[in-house]
Amino acid sequence: GLRNKSVLLDINTVHNNYSLMKSVHDECPNITRIYSIGKSYKDLKLYVMEISDNPGKHELEPEFRYVAGMHGNEVLGRELLLNLMQYMCREYKRGNQRIVHLVKETRIHLLPSMNPDGYEMAFKKGSELVGWALGRYSYEGIDMNHNFADLNSVMWTAIELETDQSKLINHYFPIPEQYTSEEVAPETRAVINWMQNIPFALGANLHGGELVVTYPYDMTRDWAPREHTPTPDESFFRWLAAAYASTNQVSLTFPCSNFPLWEVTEESCCLIKPGDVQPRPKAINSE
Ligand SMILES: [Zn+2]
Repeated sequence: GLRNKSVLLDINTVHNNYSLMKSVHDECPNITRIYSIGKSYKDLKLYVMEISDNPGKHELEPEFRYVAGMHGNEVLGRELLLNLMQYMCREYKRGNQRIVHLVKETRIHLLPSMNPDGYEMAFKKGSELVGWALGRYSYEGIDMNHNFADLNSVMWTAIELETDQSKLINHYFPIPEQYTSEEVAPETRAVINWMQNIPFALGANLHGGELVVTYPYDMTRDWAPREHTPTPDESFFRWLAAAYASTNQVSLTFPCSNFPLWEVTEESCCLIKPGDVQPRPKAINSE
C-alpha cells in the first residue's frame, strides 16, 4: 500500500537526524514510515516520521503532530523527537501497553527539523561561536514563528461585520487572500499544506531556550499586551499545558520566581500567564 511510497531510497543522510530516522524505520518497519512534506529554500527535504499501526493510512483515529527546529539553532526539540521515535519503536516491541495503545489508536507525525537550512548554518559555525540569531531564521531571513497567516484579524473583522452572532463562523477560516502576496518561507508553506492535507486533532511546536509551556490564547484584537482574550478551548488547553509541565522533572524543580511573567500553578511552575505576554502575530499557535 501507501507504505511502499516511503522516500527512504533517496534519503539525504547529511545530518545525523536522518540516519537515526532510517535506523528507527529499519528496526520497526511495520509501524513507521518516513515521508517528506516539501523542501527548504536550500533544497533540503523536510522529513517526517510517522508512527502508527498502519502507516500511510488515515483510519478514523486522532492525528497528532510535533514540529521541532523551526528556529534552526534550537536543537533541543529535534533531539527530543529523535529520541521519542526511537523510544516508541523499542517500547512497542517490548509490549509497553501505553505505547502499543498510542500506536494502534492514534497516528503520530514527528517533524524534527522544520528549518534545516538554519540548522546547517548554526552547526557549521559551532555552538561556541554561533550566537543567538545565526540559524534561528530561514536562509532568506524569515522568522517562521511569525510567518503563518493572521487569522485573528479575520475573525475580529467577521465579528464586527456580522450583526447576527448566531451566524458567525468562528471555528474555521480559510487562509486570507492577502496572505498569498506576503513573504512566506517555503518551509512555512510546506507546513501549511501538511496541516491542510492531514486532519490533525492536536499538535505542538518545540522550541529551545526557555522552560515554559504556552498554549493558544492570543485571540487579541489589537496585539496589545495584558489583554486576556481566551480561546473557546481555554480550559482544555490549560489542562494540556499543565499536564505537560507537571510531568517534566526539570520544570518541577525550576525556580520559576525568577521569571515574573510565568505563572506558578499548583501542579507545576512555568505555564505562561495569559495576557501578561506580548501576543505574537502570525505565530503557529494562533493557527
Ligand atoms: Zn524558538
